[in-house]
Formats: sequence, structure tokens, C-alpha cells
Amino acid sequence: MYNPKSLKAEEFISHEEVLETLEYAAANKHNAALIDEILEKAKRRKGLSHREAAVLLDCDIEEKNQEIYRLAEQIKKDFYGNRIVMFAPLYLSNYCVNGCVYCPYHAKNKHIARKKLAQEDVAREVCALQDMGHKRLAIEAGEDPVNNPIEYILECVKTIYSIKHKNGAIRRVNVNIAATTVENYRKLKEAEIGTYILFQETYHKESYEKLHPTGPKHNYAYHTEAMDRAMEGGIDDVGLGVLFGLELYRYEFAALLMHAEHLEAVHGVGPHTISVPRVKRADDIDPDVFDNGIDDDTFAKIIACIRISVPYTGMIISTRESKACRERVLHLGISQISGASRTSVGGYYEPEKEDECSEQFDVSDNRTLDEVVRWLMELGYIPSFCTACYREGRTGDRFMSLCKSGQIQNCCHPNALMTLQEYLMDYASEDTRKIGEALIQAELKNIPKEKVRHLVEENLQNIRNGLRDFRL
Ligand code: SF4
Ligand code: SF4
Repeated sequence: MYNPKSLKAEEFISHEEVLETLEYAAANKHNAALIDEILEKAKRRKGLSHREAAVLLDCDIEEKNQEIYRLAEQIKKDFYGNRIVMFAPLYLSNYCVNGCVYCPYHAKNKHIARKKLAQEDVAREVCALQDMGHKRLAIEAGEDPVNNPIEYILECVKTIYSIKHKNGAIRRVNVNIAATTVENYRKLKEAEIGTYILFQETYHKESYEKLHPTGPKHNYAYHTEAMDRAMEGGIDDVGLGVLFGLELYRYEFAALLMHAEHLEAVHGVGPHTISVPRVKRADDIDPDVFDNGIDDDTFAKIIACIRISVPYTGMIISTRESKACRERVLHLGISQISGASRTSVGGYYEPEKEDECSEQFDVSDNRTLDEVVRWLMELGYIPSFCTACYREGRTGDRFMSLCKSGQIQNCCHPNALMTLQEYLMDYASEDTRKIGEALIQAELKNIPKEKVRHLVEENLQNIRNGLRDFRL
């Protein structure tokens, strides 16, 4: 029944295979010899199968767990250095016809303020985001064929790319909308979106159907097979994720990696990113009613094990998580974070009043982008506003082969420095600028090729002189 090459959801996410994997992991969680063997394989940086990864996740030998964390940290350093890419979500509309029981936008919620941005509102939001310094957005919208048809999403993408406010520009728009048709994915590709993101929420079919009692999202197969349609439509960077807390985390973890293996087996390219959201409080949602909440230790272990299992896949953590939690897991494998997010519709231009709340979830990290950027630098990270790859045509298998050979580092590091310099010139506070300038000078020494270093130095000077948008 289990077949990673199948295009049928129930075959590439075979329930029986997940259960057998969990049994195998439980039976081997004290098996030091097997765990060592898996760790040896992981050290070769080629990733792990879902079964191997599940054993590491279950492992309860303290000393081996410390090794797992050390290896995750090392792999993170080898592939992503000390860079963290910044982005912000932009909520376009919270009209939704689905009945997801964990989301306040569900259709039966009659008291939440329903909002949809008109194009002039989108422009105002984008100006506000550009004024903070953002260059990369993830747009979000509920599923509603009348209020949010694909034409509306495409128009918003066009508006976002068209706004050039002062020195600002949004250079990459990732899209997080409901599962749709190949034809619509083709249109999104033509609109030059970056990554198509769709969270599975849960891979457990029976729970999925209960958690999505009404609306088109109820169809498990249609939702689970969406990434295959997206790839058929020409989108080759796709972002996976589950909502931890809905189902048993071990189940989700194994199935998530099976999904990654499926994409690799069928399309020759795994997921571009994996997100790790946890269920949070929101308008009429109480996270405590879901029995499968995970604590911070388990969350950290999941992140470390994903890092080891799919070294080439970026990992995203949002402002759903607190500053303290984000600080704890950054070094274990996170490569992208959001900053200064508003999870309400129209919240960047004008913060909402108490009685008109349209937030999808409560934000735990409420700092400004400047504070987040400074915090990252104080922790030794380089905040990066880079969006170069898809603009240079480095997507899908081309991108993955550069990742696998390690060559992508030669672009990421210089691009991080140049985009940080732009940020410092245009948006940073005095304190942040001082820390950033010192960081850039120190990091220049870490560019190994002299020719590249000179080019970057020249471009940094050009940026100080007012020019923008240099990239490798
Ligand atoms: S999770 Fe998405 S599809 Fe479900 S109710 Fe919320 S906005 Fe709608
Ligand atoms: S060079 Fe590509 S992979 Fe590296 S940070 Fe920029 S967009 Fe991401």
C-alpha cells in the first residue's frame, strides 16, 4: 500500500506505514547501536528516511539526545551559516467558507470582524511593511471562491510587486492560500510568486476530517495532493508544515517526512521550506481543548530532528512563538523567521481597535522589526533580507543542486551582508546601525574568495551612496 511515488494521498502518506514507523521507533528508542548508526548516516549530510528520523525523535538516551542537538547545530551552521532570513505575513482577507475547528476564521464564527483588503488597502499595507524594512512577504487569505477568487489573489500580487515606496520594494511574495487547481497554480507561477505554502494541519486522515468538518478543505486527498498539482503547474518551490497540537506529534513528524520523500521521489525536488507552527489562542479558539499540545522541549527536539533529516530544506518559525522560545530553537535549524507581524487584516497600516478584531492568532513576539534585527545580531546572527534566488532563476532542482553542493553559501552570505546594509541605511535605529556596521565589517573577512569580497565591498559602498538592490 505504501508507495512514495504514488500520486494518491493515502498511498504516499500511508496510515499503516506511519503506524509501523512509530512501532519501529518505540521498539528502538533505547537501541544505542542503531541510534549510532543513524547518527553516522546523518553526519554524511544526506538526510534520513522517515523511519530513521522517527527513531531519533523517540530516542530517550540522554547522551545520544545531546549528540542529536550538537549535530543539528552543526548542520545548521554548515548549510545556513549564522544567517536568518526575515519575512512578514500579509493577511489579505479573512473571509472563509471552511469549518476548521482550530482557526477563528471558520465560517460559523459570526462575531469576528470580516475584512478584505481592496487594492488601495494592499498598497497602504505594503508601504507600511516597506517602511519597516521588509522585502519578503507571505500573503495569506481564507478560502472563499466569491470573496477571494484566484483573480483577487493575482491582483494583490501584482499590486504588491508594483509598489516602490521611498527605497523600499517587496522583492519576493510567497503565497499561502487554500489547495487549488493546476490551472490556478500555473497562474500563480506566471505572477512570479516565490514559494507556495500550504500547511497540512494534520496528516492523520480521520482527525483531519473531524477537524475540517465542512467546506472544500474537508477533502483530505485534495488537500494532501495539492503540492503535486502545484508542481504540475510549474511551481517548484513548495513549503510544507503541520499544526503541532492537533494530533500526536510523532505521527505528524513521520508523515511530514514521508511527504518530503514523496516530493523528492516524484518531482526530484523536496520541499523548499518546512514550517513548525503550534496551535495558539485566538478569537474563539482555546488551544487547551486540543489534547496533543507539545511542550518546549519536545518542540526543540522536533526542530533538531527535522534539521538532521532534511538538511537542504529551510525551516520557518513565526511570531506565534515567544522571543524566549525562538531564541532557544534558532541555532537548532531555523533559517527564516517573521518579525513585527500583524495577523489581522489591514493591521500594518492601522492597528485594530479592541472591538474589531480580525486576528488569526495571538502573536507571542510583539517586538518591532528593528528590535528583532538588533536581537539577532546581538545573538551573533546576520539578519538577511535576501530574495535573490528566484529572481535569478535559482528555484526547484537548480536551487537544490546548489544547496547540496554547498555552493549556495557563496551567494547567501554576501547577499545577507548587502541586504543588511540596505536595511541599516534605510530603516535601522542608531543603535542597531552601529551594531550592524560592526557586524558587516567582521563578516566581510569570512568571504573566502578575494574577488567576491572586493565586489561586495564595492557594492556596500554603492549602497551607502544611495544605490540599491545588489545581489549575487
Ligand atoms: S485555517 Fe484557513 S481554511 Fe481553515 S478556517 Fe482558517 S483561514 Fe479558513
Ligand atoms: S541567496 Fe537564495 S538561498 Fe541564499 S538567502 Fe538569498 S534567496 Fe535564500
